[in-house]
Amino acid sequence: MLSPTENVRRLRQYHPPLAGRAGLRLDFNENTEGCSPRVLARLRQISAEDLGRYPERGPVEAVAADWLELPPPQVLLTNGVDEAIHLLCETYLQPGDEALVVVPTFSMYEIYAAATGAHVVAIPAGEDFRFSTEEVLSRLSPRTRLLAIANPNNPTGAVVARAELLEIANRAPAAAVLVDEAYFDFYGESVIDQVGRLENLFVARTFSKAYGMAGLRAGALAGSAAQIPFVRRVASPYNVNAVALACLPQALSDGDYVRAYVDAVRRGRARLESELRALGIPFWPSQANFVLAQFGPRREAFLAAMKRRGVLVRDRHTDPGCAGCVRITVGTEEQTDRLLAALRTCLDEIARAREVPA
Ligand code: PMP
Repeated sequence: MLSPTENVRRLRQYHPPLAGRAGLRLDFNENTEGCSPRVLARLRQISAEDLGRYPERGPVEAVAADWLELPPPQVLLTNGVDEAIHLLCETYLQPGDEALVVVPTFSMYEIYAAATGAHVVAIPAGEDFRFSTEEVLSRLSPRTRLLAIANPNNPTGAVVARAELLEIANRAPAAAVLVDEAYFDFYGESVIDQVGRLENLFVARTFSKAYGMAGLRAGALAGSAAQIPFVRRVASPYNVNAVALACLPQALSDGDYVRAYVDAVRRGRARLESELRALGIPFWPSQANFVLAQFGPRREAFLAAMKRRGVLVRDRHTDPGCAGCVRITVGTEEQTDRLLAALRTCLDEIARAREVPA
């Protein structure tokens, strides 16, 4: 009888709650307004012939490389950062190897690493989800072949200083060190300028978040000229579809669109944080387009009350160290008005329900 590999049999399915997302979608860290109008205009020009042809990644890869200020051989366009992670795992991990992650973090690192038969070493973050470089360095072993660090991290919004990331890459020369900068645009600091200098350093960027193209599936993996060709060998030559390739240069040409959105998100994030402070809800200061907050025993009632008001936020209760936590994406000014109003009303409603004698 046909049976999947042992590694796959042990995997749990990652099943994001995508069904029935009607309302204000503050649950997936997307751009709540979607993509630039230039992308839509390009989309409308796509012809039957365009779709009939296999997509040619190279020319758009050169545009993306130029935009990242890197030589084209150092950039691989991918089907979202998800695929970049998958490819790194396929390129560098084999059964018995170790992949290090600091949890809580993005789930796909663990899933793709475990699928190869590598052992995932999940290091719990310190107090207040602080990333301890010392702890990570102490857990390096001769079998460590991959380290994945989201910077800013999801779901915490916490960041790791550039010097620490570079120290890790320096101290683990036999491991691929992925700095996942999916939320870079909301933060502004990067180590991408170092990919030419440190052969084992990789940086991933996505067009799913600030660029508003999560549905198109496009990301970029930057690395050294010595290593990217190996990753390229594992990738399908058609990994990024023709529509995404046609639209990407348009998205990159409209920096103003992304800047305006990022500014709005940063203002909204400050407003959300100060509102949570005023309401006495603990939260972790974030450098991304979301805030993780601690609702404790009120979590379930809060999620349900928000949903009734048409505001979707994300339950993170089952993430390591996140009991009682909810992650709230920040969108535009008006969406933040709506979010804060719903937040106050829901907490009020929960407080009143608790006051009612049984
Ligand atoms: N990395 C992080 C840290 C993320 O939060 C996400 C999306 N949730 C991804 C990667 C995946 O992004 P993409 O849509 O580019 O595959």
